[in-house]
Amino acid sequence: MEIVENINELTSYISSVKTNVNIGFVPTMGALHEGHLNLIKASKLNGDITICSVFVNKIQFNNEEDFIKYPKNIDQDIELLQQAGCDCLFIPTQEIVFPLDYVFENFELGNIEEILEGFYRPGHFQGVCNVVNRLINLIHPNKLYLGIKDLQQCKVIEKMIHLEKYEPTVELVYCDTIRNEKGLALSSRNKRLSKDAQEKALILIETLKSAKDQISNKRNQLYNIHQLAIDAILNNGFESVDYFEFVDQDFQLIDHQSTEQNPAFILTAATIEGVRLIDNIIL
Ligand code: AMP
Repeated sequence: MEIVENINELTSYISSVKTNVNIGFVPTMGALHEGHLNLIKASKLNGDITICSVFVNKIQFNNEEDFIKYPKNIDQDIELLQQAGCDCLFIPTQEIVFPLDYVFENFELGNIEEILEGFYRPGHFQGVCNVVNRLINLIHPNKLYLGIKDLQQCKVIEKMIHLEKYEPTVELVYCDTIRNEKGLALSSRNKRLSKDAQEKALILIETLKSAKDQISNKRNQLYNIHQLAIDAILNNGFESVDYFEFVDQDFQLIDHQSTEQNPAFILTAATIEGVRLIDNIIL
């Protein structure tokens, strides 16, 4: 695996491989686990030359402490990427991705950046779009591999790709959420949880599944399902629940009381032992 740290090295790597090959790109913030490696594997299965970036993007953290505490383990990341068959790892510094004279864009994302993660993490999605846009401009991938674990992020990036008119050159490939054997969605943040909290955190996927079941079997109204889910999560050791919400196919929030209900996804975010976890389920 080629390891490149600056734009010159990256550009010469790309020009050395880019003759009639597709480039698959997997952006990450490191502290890699099977969820990330699954994206690398998906790209390799497609036969793409696979470039992974590890860059902890400060501008997408609206909480300084979360940024400082974000786990870092580059030596292990390199080993895991090598084992997964990744072709190239790009590990830039902050100055390389965003030099002092870099002009940040303000993407017209609309309502999607105001709701759910956007509401609780103001500015987060602008930070995500700026870094992904910058990396696309440096790497010129044919495919961008993203995890459904961050469903709203997938939808936001889809919008940015559309706004920047990258289609059809850059194709988005959504990959399933990878979970541990008990069902907890893998996350770099899980490393900060005690064993006990990791067990308790299973309540997230359990409530999502139960809500899906109640909706599919028309067994309950959304407002009841919502309240039961919040209570279950809080009774299972979580300190707080930011949201447990239903959105439609266009990623619009659904009013729990409305009779016109056609939920396509359920998303939740909640905090345990000071660690904020997110998860979702597709209906
Ligand atoms: P991150 O390093 O958290 O920014 O994530 C980088 C990419 O890996 C994003 O596209 C995430 O959605 C994806 N990802 C993170 N965790 C998982 C998971 N458990 N399953 C699938 N994809 C994931």
